[in-house]
Amino acid sequence: MTTILIIEDEAAIRELISELLILEGLDVAEAVNGREGIAIAQSVLPDLIICDVMMPEIDGHGVLQTLQKNPQTVTIPFIFLTAKGTRQDVRYAMNLGADDYLIKPFANDELLEVIQIRLKKKEIINQQYIEKLEENKEKISHLLYHDLLTNLPNQLSLRENFERLIAPHKNQSNNLSSDEENPSLSENSTDFYGICLIILSFERFSRINDHLGYEGGNQLLKEAVDRIQATVGQPGAITRLNSNEFVIVLTPSELSNLPSNPSVTNLKDNSIQFSKILVDAFSSPFFTHTQEIICPIILGIALYPLHGANLDQLLQCARKAKDSIKNQGGNLYQFYHPSLEKNTSVNVLDLERDLRHALERNEFVVYYQPQINAHTRQIVCAEALVRWDHPKKGRISPYIFIPIAEATGLIQGIGEWVLEKSCEQLKSWHKLGLDSIRIAVNLSARQFNQANLGQWLTDLFQKHGVNPSQIELELTESTLVDDIPRSIEQLHQLKSVGIKVAMDDFGTGYSSLSYLQQFPFDILKIDQCFIQKIDQNPKNAAIAQAIITMAHQLNLRVVAEGVETTEELTFVHENNCDEIQGYLFSEPITSEEFTQLLQTENPFSF
Ligand code: C2E
Ligand code: CA
Ligand code: CA
Repeated sequence: MTTILIIEDEAAIRELISELLILEGLDVAEAVNGREGIAIAQSVLPDLIICDVMMPEIDGHGVLQTLQKNPQTVTIPFIFLTAKGTRQDVRYAMNLGADDYLIKPFANDELLEVIQIRLKKKEIINQQYIEKLEENKEKISHLLYHDLLTNLPNQLSLRENFERLIAPHKNQSNNLSSDEENPSLSENSTDFYGICLIILSFERFSRINDHLGYEGGNQLLKEAVDRIQATVGQPGAITRLNSNEFVIVLTPSELSNLPSNPSVTNLKDNSIQFSKILVDAFSSPFFTHTQEIICPIILGIALYPLHGANLDQLLQCARKAKDSIKNQGGNLYQFYHPSLEKNTSVNVLDLERDLRHALERNEFVVYYQPQINAHTRQIVCAEALVRWDHPKKGRISPYIFIPIAEATGLIQGIGEWVLEKSCEQLKSWHKLGLDSIRIAVNLSARQFNQANLGQWLTDLFQKHGVNPSQIELELTESTLVDDIPRSIEQLHQLKSVGIKVAMDDFGTGYSSLSYLQQFPFDILKIDQCFIQKIDQNPKNAAIAQAIITMAHQLNLRVVAEGVETTEELTFVHENNCDEIQGYLFSEPITSEEFTQLLQTENPFSF
């Protein structure tokens, strides 16, 4: 109901206006002087005020001035009504902020018309005000619920959305504690109502910013998010949890609706199938204006309510799964399994403490993995791969302890030891007449950046009587990018000593192709992630083909790593890889086993 306040000391006029307005269906409040007018205006907050100018107590001008000081009343349309009608009076009133001015005596129509115009105007202003308010509210809630950089929903959104998703099932899952007790709650069940939660991280996140700078890193991140979104397809399903953790939440129907996921079997299979597709989407590089960059991802998968009854438990499981495949080159996924709990209980601090004594306690052992000439099938090289036999924890993978050794600087001593061992090994093979074999040794960034590396190596080779051309050093891109001019100089120094240098894990780094031309390598090792299932993955196949062609143009020898199947072998062979390494031929083996292999005639012949 629209309320009009009439402030008028002359009763006859007040009643006349009042009757007129009531007939028009308006609600009316009346005040007999300025003071009363102000009080009523402030308590009733009318939609419009008609006010006489000349009044006892406070006059009309005073009323208007007072009401303008109050934010609640300042927007109420205000019409003066007076017998004083000179131009100065009108201007004065309008300058005070009145909306209109009627001179007594006035016609009824005139009064009603003025009131209608003002009410309409007020309504429009109100509407605009409400819209602005809504807009601001939306802006603020967008800020609260989204990540600024990627515009993806954030953690707060995730929590609320997740609660909404599980609300209908909450009672059901509260009553269930494990799948053993409830066969229906199995990951393989087809009518499983659960939810799939995936945590995604970029494998070399901090390196991207280091390498591309802040702006470039952000740009790449946005493109990577676009790629995730294009694969997921469901708006709102992706959340940015923190700088390098993204969460994808999908219901069974969303999973089975994905066009690339037609084989609906069960939630576990579907989530794995989806993860494969997502990982696959990241096998091709991103392009900046100067370079192409591979940006590998890792995924950890957990299911609600099987692995957790709430979001935090689920996130924890997915994260454990994801962390179990960290630092392995990326483009991998891992489904949560309780056995992962054991791995994560291996305390890094304990390991670090034990690692400090491992060298003096003789706990390391070097294994060798053959590299085969693709055409002759002869063993031409052995990659030295270190293992740590922990006295209590058993054998620990280099994927776990090498990063710790790098972070603590212990890698220096370990790396030198591996080089010593490799020289001794070459020497003992020579003694057996096996003198054409080379050994490839992985070199960590710390070792590579050592000032006197060339001299140290020369001394080492002299000490063992080893020909430097029989040692290859394997380096990853990340080792080289920090200070490119210095890295180039260092590489030249190594080459002047007579050592061959290989770029390791090629394809998982940053701007691979442009580096190839800059750095004086001899060998290029295509990373396993490109080789695996290459016969089934046309995109990887095309990339690998391009890499091989370009490497040959640059006079590099190409080694395919991680060849596990005959199909993969056929592909790399047909595409002119020079050397092949992988489980298909042999896993890394002990020095004794390797010696036997070398003494076997044609161990890998056709
Ligand atoms: P890397 O240099 O890329 O070595 C190849 C890894 O792939 C080895 O893992 C090898 O066992 C594995 N591999 C070989 N063929 C196949 C295959 O067909 N399929 C699969 N799935 N894997 C295959 P490993 O021995 O566990 O070494 C892991 C990483 O640890 C190495 O990766 C290397 O980066 C590092 N590392 C090992 N030894 C040393 C060392 O002496 N010094 C330094 N700095 N790093 C080392
Ligand atoms: Ca290597
Ligand atoms: Ca490698």
